[in-house]
Amino acid sequence: MTRLWDFASYNLWSLFSPPVGKEHWHCDMKRGFTKARKKEPQVKALLDRDNTWQRIGILAQQGVYEFHQRPQFLHRSDGVDRVADILQLSEEVEQVRERVTQTLHNYQSNPILADREIVELNRGDEGFPEPIVVCEGRYRFNLYAAIDCIFREPDGTLHILDLKTGKSDFDRRQAYVYLLACRYRYRGERAVASFYNLETQERSRPIPATGTQLKAIRMELARISKIHQDQLREYRWKQQSFERLYPANPGWNCQYCPFESICQFADREVSA
Ligand code: SF4
Repeated sequence: MTRLWDFASYNLWSLFSPPVGKEHWHCDMKRGFTKARKKEPQVKALLDRDNTWQRIGILAQQGVYEFHQRPQFLHRSDGVDRVADILQLSEEVEQVRERVTQTLHNYQSNPILADREIVELNRGDEGFPEPIVVCEGRYRFNLYAAIDCIFREPDGTLHILDLKTGKSDFDRRQAYVYLLACRYRYRGERAVASFYNLETQERSRPIPATGTQLKAIRMELARISKIHQDQLREYRWKQQSFERLYPANPGWNCQYCPFESICQFADREVSA
């Protein structure tokens, strides 16, 4: 069965269930605001609000992209300044400017993609990636996977690299989603995935996936996609069902939640 809007992505998966060890941070109601109520003016305003950490992530990735458009900047003493000019960092707020400039210095001193056979390198601001149509039994859904970079290892293996900033965790589920996407886009090719943090310069080990693991990931994404669409439909019919469909989990996590100001369940004693 094909339903036009059915989709899955790592982002949707992370809104459904937290990484291991982060269960106390998880709140289904955030998914409700983000997905079911995103067009409401108040919610939209909160979602659109300039998000510093997102801005740092996008600009840091753009910096890597620009270095590889002009590889001579990797070796020039003014290379960081030149890339910073291309990114117009002087127009950013101080925190963004400083942290992105540091990622540029880090990258110039340790350009992990230099001398690699780059297959894909994205700027990070391209918007939605092309969907991949995935079939699980008779159910079809669109898989979205915004892959930052793919390079080829000397032995021919495709290596998917996800670039991070800040304190973002390395979540193996994201690697598996990207490996599944890669299997559809580069049929028959061997692939691994890894993470690299442009600020801390930490990297993960390469993560491979067996056919059985990818099948399990595909089934899980299909399950999430169906539940998500069913919940959206039910919410559209019966908006009173919001709290039941997307139960709140107030607590410590509320102080970092973008919806804290409008959520009636927010734990404001903790937030205060
Ligand atoms: S404020 Fe707290 S309870 Fe409300 S959506 Fe955010 S995390 Fe959940």
